[in-house]
Amino acid sequence: MMKTARYQESIQRYLSQCNLCPHHCVIGDGKTGRCRVRENTKGEINLLTYGIVSSMGFDPIEKKPLYHFYPGKDIFSIGSFGCTLKCRFCQNWEISQDLPNHYSRMKRFAPEELVMTAASKKGNIGIAYTYNEPTVWFEFMLDIAAIARKYKMKNVMITNGFINPEPMDELLTFIDAFNVDLKAFTEEFYRTLTFSSLEPVKETLLRIKKAGKHLEITNLVIPELNDQTSDFTEMIHWISTCLGGDTPLHLSRYFPNYKLNQSATTAEDLKRLYNIAKTKLKYVYIGNLAGNGSQNTECPSCNSTVIYRNRYNVLRSGLQKNGTCKNCGEKISGFF
Ligand code: SF4
Repeated sequence: MMKTARYQESIQRYLSQCNLCPHHCVIGDGKTGRCRVRENTKGEINLLTYGIVSSMGFDPIEKKPLYHFYPGKDIFSIGSFGCTLKCRFCQNWEISQDLPNHYSRMKRFAPEELVMTAASKKGNIGIAYTYNEPTVWFEFMLDIAAIARKYKMKNVMITNGFINPEPMDELLTFIDAFNVDLKAFTEEFYRTLTFSSLEPVKETLLRIKKAGKHLEITNLVIPELNDQTSDFTEMIHWISTCLGGDTPLHLSRYFPNYKLNQSATTAEDLKRLYNIAKTKLKYVYIGNLAGNGSQNTECPSCNSTVIYRNRYNVLRSGLQKNGTCKNCGEKISGFF
Protein backbone atom coordinates (compact mmCIF):
# COMPACT_ATOMS: atom_id res chain seq x y z
CA MET A 1 0.00 0.00 0.00
CA MET A 2 1.31 3.40 -0.91
CA LYS A 3 0.23 6.42 1.08
CA THR A 4 -0.61 9.89 -0.18
CA ALA A 5 2.24 12.14 0.87
CA ARG A 6 1.67 15.20 3.02
CA TYR A 7 3.05 18.62 2.14
CA GLN A 8 2.61 18.50 -1.60
CA GLU A 9 1.22 20.99 -4.07
CA SER A 10 0.20 20.77 -7.68
CA ILE A 11 2.30 22.81 -10.09
CA GLN A 12 0.46 21.86 -13.26
CA ARG A 13 -1.29 18.77 -14.61
CA TYR A 14 0.76 15.71 -13.50
CA LEU A 15 3.54 17.89 -12.09
CA SER A 16 3.75 18.32 -8.30
CA GLN A 17 6.08 19.76 -5.72
CA CYS A 18 7.03 18.13 -2.42
CA ASN A 19 7.47 20.62 0.41
CA LEU A 20 8.49 18.24 3.16
CA CYS A 21 12.16 19.18 3.11
CA PRO A 22 14.05 22.24 1.86
CA HIS A 23 14.87 20.56 -1.46
CA HIS A 24 11.28 21.33 -2.58
CA CYS A 25 11.54 18.71 -5.33
CA VAL A 26 9.36 19.34 -8.37
CA ILE A 27 8.44 15.81 -9.45
CA GLY A 28 7.12 14.69 -12.82
CA ASP A 29 4.70 11.81 -13.41
CA GLY A 30 6.35 8.45 -12.65
CA LYS A 31 9.40 10.05 -11.05
CA THR A 32 10.63 10.26 -7.46
CA GLY A 33 12.10 13.16 -5.51
CA ARG A 34 15.73 13.26 -4.40
CA CYS A 35 15.01 10.95 -1.46
CA ARG A 36 13.74 8.36 -3.96
CA VAL A 37 10.88 7.20 -1.74
CA ARG A 38 8.29 9.85 -2.65
CA GLU A 39 6.87 9.25 -6.11
CA ASN A 40 4.51 11.19 -8.34
CA THR A 41 1.72 9.11 -9.89
CA LYS A 42 -0.39 11.19 -12.27
CA GLY A 43 0.08 14.31 -10.22
CA GLU A 44 -0.23 12.80 -6.74
CA ILE A 45 2.90 12.29 -4.65
CA ASN A 46 2.89 9.06 -2.64
CA LEU A 47 5.15 7.61 0.03
CA LEU A 48 6.46 4.34 -1.43
CA THR A 49 7.81 3.04 1.89
CA TYR A 50 4.71 3.40 4.07
CA GLY A 51 4.86 0.37 6.41
CA ILE A 52 8.18 -0.91 5.04
CA VAL A 53 10.78 -1.56 7.70
CA SER A 54 14.44 -2.19 6.82
CA SER A 55 15.47 -3.02 10.37
CA MET A 56 14.00 -3.18 13.84
CA GLY A 57 15.14 -4.20 17.28
CA PHE A 58 15.38 -3.27 20.94
CA ASP A 59 18.47 -1.12 21.40
CA PRO A 60 19.98 0.49 24.48
CA ILE A 61 19.04 4.17 24.24
CA GLU A 62 22.76 4.95 24.59
CA LYS A 63 23.18 3.51 21.09
CA LYS A 64 21.09 6.27 19.45
CA PRO A 65 23.08 8.07 21.02
CA LEU A 66 21.01 9.65 23.78
CA TYR A 67 22.79 9.86 27.14
CA HIS A 68 20.41 12.15 29.04
CA PHE A 69 17.07 10.58 28.15
CA TYR A 70 16.28 7.62 30.43
CA PRO A 71 19.88 6.32 30.44
CA GLY A 72 20.25 2.56 30.70
CA LYS A 73 16.80 1.87 29.24
CA ASP A 74 15.93 0.04 26.02
CA ILE A 75 14.03 1.57 23.14
CA PHE A 76 12.36 -0.21 20.22
CA SER A 77 14.17 1.10 17.16
CA ILE A 78 12.87 1.05 13.61
CA GLY A 79 13.97 2.38 10.24
CA SER A 80 13.17 2.15 6.57
CA PHE A 81 14.90 3.32 3.37
CA GLY A 82 15.91 6.65 1.87
CA CYS A 83 17.34 9.97 2.95
CA THR A 84 17.01 13.65 2.12
CA LEU A 85 20.81 13.99 2.00
CA LYS A 86 23.51 12.34 -0.04
CA CYS A 87 26.46 12.45 2.34
CA ARG A 88 29.60 11.17 0.68
CA PHE A 89 30.64 9.75 4.06
CA CYS A 90 27.29 8.10 4.86
CA GLN A 91 27.72 5.48 7.58
CA ASN A 92 24.36 3.84 6.77
CA TRP A 93 24.41 3.99 2.99
CA GLU A 94 23.05 0.47 2.47
CA ILE A 95 19.61 1.63 3.60
CA SER A 96 19.77 5.36 2.91
CA GLN A 97 21.33 5.45 -0.58
CA ASP A 98 21.37 1.94 -2.04
CA LEU A 99 17.60 1.51 -2.23
CA PRO A 100 15.65 -1.55 -3.35
CA ASN A 101 14.40 -1.36 -6.97
CA HIS A 102 10.82 -1.93 -5.98
CA TYR A 103 8.84 -2.35 -2.81
CA SER A 104 5.87 -4.35 -4.07
CA ARG A 105 7.01 -7.70 -2.67
CA MET A 106 8.18 -6.37 0.67
CA LYS A 107 6.26 -6.95 3.87
CA ARG A 108 4.38 -3.93 5.14
CA PHE A 109 3.63 -3.37 8.80
CA ALA A 110 0.65 -1.57 10.26
CA PRO A 111 1.47 1.17 12.79
CA GLU A 112 -0.44 -0.71 15.52
CA GLU A 113 1.64 -3.85 14.92
CA LEU A 114 4.87 -1.99 15.62
CA VAL A 115 3.48 -0.28 18.68
CA MET A 116 2.37 -3.66 20.04
CA THR A 117 5.86 -5.06 19.44
CA ALA A 118 7.33 -2.10 21.31
CA ALA A 119 4.91 -2.72 24.18
CA SER A 120 5.78 -6.41 24.36
CA LYS A 121 9.10 -5.88 26.11
CA LYS A 122 9.00 -4.97 29.77
CA GLY A 123 10.91 -1.81 30.56
CA ASN A 124 11.01 -0.58 26.97
CA ILE A 125 10.44 3.20 27.04
CA GLY A 126 9.06 3.73 23.56
CA ILE A 127 9.97 3.90 19.89
CA ALA A 128 12.99 5.42 18.15
CA TYR A 129 12.79 6.37 14.47
CA THR A 130 16.33 5.85 13.32
CA TYR A 131 18.81 3.97 11.06
CA ASN A 132 17.90 5.82 7.83
CA GLU A 133 16.52 9.40 7.83
CA PRO A 134 13.03 9.21 9.38
CA THR A 135 11.89 12.50 7.81
CA VAL A 136 11.29 10.71 4.51
CA TRP A 137 9.01 8.25 6.37
CA PHE A 138 7.03 11.20 7.73
CA GLU A 139 3.46 9.88 7.32
CA PHE A 140 4.23 6.43 8.73
CA MET A 141 6.28 7.82 11.59
CA LEU A 142 3.48 10.18 12.63
CA ASP A 143 0.87 7.42 12.46
CA ILE A 144 2.99 5.22 14.76
CA ALA A 145 3.92 8.08 17.07
CA ALA A 146 0.28 9.08 17.62
CA ILE A 147 -0.63 5.54 18.71
CA ALA A 148 2.51 5.14 20.82
CA ARG A 149 1.60 8.35 22.62
CA LYS A 150 -1.77 6.86 23.58
CA TYR A 151 0.10 3.99 25.24
CA LYS A 152 2.25 6.53 27.11
CA MET A 153 5.37 5.56 25.20
CA LYS A 154 8.11 8.00 24.31
CA ASN A 155 8.85 8.86 20.70
CA VAL A 156 12.44 9.56 19.75
CA MET A 157 13.80 10.76 16.42
CA ILE A 158 17.39 10.47 15.19
CA THR A 159 17.60 12.91 12.31
CA ASN A 160 19.73 15.11 10.09
CA GLY A 161 17.33 17.98 10.85
CA PHE A 162 16.87 18.84 7.16
CA ILE A 163 13.12 19.44 7.15
CA ASN A 164 10.83 22.40 6.55
CA PRO A 165 9.45 24.33 9.54
CA GLU A 166 5.77 23.41 9.09
CA PRO A 167 6.22 19.60 9.09
CA MET A 168 8.79 20.01 11.84
CA ASP A 169 6.23 21.75 14.03
CA GLU A 170 3.85 18.87 13.45
CA LEU A 171 6.52 16.40 14.53
CA LEU A 172 7.13 18.42 17.67
CA THR A 173 3.64 17.59 18.90
CA PHE A 174 4.51 13.87 19.03
CA ILE A 175 8.26 13.47 19.38
CA ASP A 176 9.69 13.72 22.89
CA ALA A 177 13.42 13.61 22.23
CA PHE A 178 15.75 14.23 19.33
CA ASN A 179 19.31 13.50 18.43
CA VAL A 180 20.18 15.81 15.54
CA ASP A 181 23.25 15.27 13.42
CA LEU A 182 24.98 18.63 13.08
CA LYS A 183 27.49 17.60 10.46
CA ALA A 184 29.62 20.73 10.28
CA PHE A 185 29.25 24.46 10.63
CA THR A 186 29.86 25.75 7.12
CA GLU A 187 27.52 25.98 4.17
CA GLU A 188 30.37 24.79 1.95
CA PHE A 189 30.61 21.49 3.82
CA TYR A 190 26.88 20.93 3.62
CA ARG A 191 26.75 21.87 -0.07
CA THR A 192 29.71 19.85 -1.29
CA LEU A 193 29.60 16.79 0.97
CA THR A 194 25.92 16.33 1.81
CA PHE A 195 24.21 18.09 -1.13
CA SER A 196 22.04 20.09 1.21
CA SER A 197 22.44 23.21 3.37
CA LEU A 198 23.20 24.11 6.97
CA GLU A 199 20.70 26.91 7.63
CA PRO A 200 17.56 24.67 7.73
CA VAL A 201 19.31 22.35 10.20
CA LYS A 202 20.03 25.30 12.51
CA GLU A 203 16.37 26.32 12.20
CA THR A 204 15.28 22.80 13.21
CA LEU A 205 17.56 22.86 16.24
CA LEU A 206 16.14 26.22 17.33
CA ARG A 207 12.57 24.93 16.96
CA ILE A 208 13.28 21.85 19.06
CA LYS A 209 14.80 24.02 21.74
CA LYS A 210 11.91 26.50 21.66
CA ALA A 211 9.39 23.66 21.93
CA GLY A 212 11.14 22.46 25.11
CA LYS A 213 11.81 18.97 23.74
CA HIS A 214 14.84 16.97 24.78
CA LEU A 215 17.74 17.58 22.41
CA GLU A 216 21.19 16.06 21.97
CA ILE A 217 23.56 16.70 19.08
CA THR A 218 25.94 14.39 17.25
CA ASN A 219 28.90 15.71 15.29
CA LEU A 220 30.80 13.19 13.16
CA VAL A 221 34.38 14.46 13.08
CA ILE A 222 36.02 13.92 9.67
CA PRO A 223 39.74 14.67 9.35
CA GLU A 224 40.47 17.83 7.33
CA LEU A 225 36.85 18.31 6.34
CA ASN A 226 35.14 19.54 9.50
CA ASP A 227 37.79 19.41 12.24
CA GLN A 228 39.24 22.91 11.83
CA THR A 229 39.55 24.65 15.18
CA SER A 230 37.98 27.92 13.99
CA ASP A 231 34.80 26.41 12.47
CA PHE A 232 34.42 24.01 15.37
CA THR A 233 34.81 26.81 17.93
CA GLU A 234 32.16 28.82 16.10
CA MET A 235 29.79 25.84 16.20
CA ILE A 236 30.30 25.34 19.92
CA HIS A 237 29.71 29.04 20.53
CA TRP A 238 26.44 28.87 18.57
CA ILE A 239 25.25 25.74 20.42
CA SER A 240 26.00 27.23 23.81
CA THR A 241 24.43 30.63 23.12
CA CYS A 242 21.43 29.57 21.01
CA LEU A 243 20.60 26.12 22.40
CA GLY A 244 22.18 26.24 25.84
CA GLY A 245 25.38 25.07 27.50
CA ASP A 246 23.51 22.05 28.88
CA THR A 247 22.90 20.57 25.40
CA PRO A 248 24.71 17.20 25.33
CA LEU A 249 27.16 16.89 22.42
CA HIS A 250 28.42 13.58 21.03
CA LEU A 251 31.63 13.78 19.05
CA SER A 252 31.70 10.70 16.90
CA ARG A 253 34.74 9.10 15.35
CA TYR A 254 34.55 8.79 11.58
CA PHE A 255 35.60 5.67 9.70
CA PRO A 256 35.99 5.55 5.89
CA ASN A 257 32.70 4.58 4.32
CA TYR A 258 30.63 4.93 1.14
CA LYS A 259 32.31 7.47 -1.16
CA LEU A 260 34.87 8.93 1.21
CA ASN A 261 38.16 7.20 2.00
CA GLN A 262 39.69 9.79 4.31
CA SER A 263 41.50 7.97 7.11
CA ALA A 264 39.71 7.49 10.45
CA THR A 265 39.71 10.35 12.96
CA THR A 266 42.59 10.15 15.41
CA ALA A 267 42.11 10.02 19.17
CA GLU A 268 44.25 13.18 19.47
CA ASP A 269 41.97 15.17 17.19
CA LEU A 270 38.86 14.02 19.02
CA LYS A 271 40.45 15.02 22.33
CA ARG A 272 41.46 18.43 20.92
CA LEU A 273 37.87 19.14 19.87
CA TYR A 274 36.51 17.67 23.10
CA ASN A 275 38.61 20.17 25.07
CA ILE A 276 37.29 23.07 22.98
CA ALA A 277 33.69 21.91 23.42
CA LYS A 278 34.13 21.50 27.17
CA THR A 279 34.98 25.18 27.57
CA LYS A 280 31.32 26.05 26.80
CA LEU A 281 29.27 22.86 27.06
CA LYS A 282 28.61 20.91 30.24
CA TYR A 283 28.16 17.47 28.71
CA VAL A 284 30.49 16.35 25.92
CA TYR A 285 31.07 12.72 24.91
CA ILE A 286 33.32 10.91 22.46
CA GLY A 287 31.75 8.01 20.57
CA ASN A 288 33.11 5.20 18.38
CA LEU A 289 36.46 5.26 20.18
CA ALA A 290 37.06 2.32 22.48
CA GLY A 291 38.39 2.95 25.96
CA ASN A 292 38.61 6.74 25.73
CA GLY A 293 36.95 7.41 29.10
CA SER A 294 34.67 10.13 27.72
CA GLN A 295 31.39 8.30 27.97
CA ASN A 296 30.65 8.90 31.61
CA THR A 297 28.37 11.71 32.69
CA GLU A 298 30.03 14.02 35.16
CA CYS A 299 28.35 16.52 37.40
CA PRO A 300 29.12 19.98 35.97
CA SER A 301 29.19 21.41 39.49
CA CYS A 302 31.38 19.03 41.57
CA ASN A 303 32.88 16.89 38.75
CA SER A 304 31.91 13.60 40.38
CA THR A 305 30.78 10.85 38.02
CA VAL A 306 27.02 10.47 38.14
CA ILE A 307 26.60 7.89 35.35
CA TYR A 308 29.27 5.32 34.45
CA ARG A 309 29.19 3.80 30.97
CA ASN A 310 31.14 0.88 29.59
CA ARG A 311 29.81 0.54 26.05
CA TYR A 312 26.11 -0.09 26.69
CA ASN A 313 26.47 -1.06 30.33
CA VAL A 314 25.16 1.83 32.36
CA LEU A 315 25.55 2.39 36.09
CA ARG A 316 23.71 5.39 37.53
CA SER A 317 25.34 5.09 40.93
CA GLY A 318 26.07 8.80 41.32
CA LEU A 319 22.61 9.96 40.33
CA GLN A 320 19.56 10.31 42.52
CA LYS A 321 16.14 9.22 41.28
CA ASN A 322 15.12 12.84 40.76
CA GLY A 323 18.05 13.41 38.37
CA THR A 324 20.32 15.26 40.76
CA CYS A 325 23.94 14.56 41.67
CA LYS A 326 24.23 12.38 44.80
CA ASN A 327 27.34 14.22 45.89
CA CYS A 328 26.28 17.89 45.59
CA GLY A 329 22.61 17.95 44.59
CA GLU A 330 23.17 19.65 41.22
CA LYS A 331 20.38 18.99 38.69
CA ILE A 332 21.73 16.98 35.76
CA SER A 333 20.17 18.04 32.47
CA GLY A 334 17.71 15.56 30.93
CA PHE A 335 15.08 12.96 31.84
CA PHE A 336 15.92 10.09 34.20
S1 SF4 B 1 11.26 14.79 1.13
FE1 SF4 B 1 12.13 13.85 -0.72
S2 SF4 B 1 10.76 14.41 -2.39
FE2 SF4 B 1 10.26 15.74 -0.66
S3 SF4 B 1 11.44 17.61 -1.04
FE3 SF4 B 1 12.69 16.29 0.28
S4 SF4 B 1 13.98 15.06 -1.08
FE4 SF4 B 1 12.35 15.96 -2.31
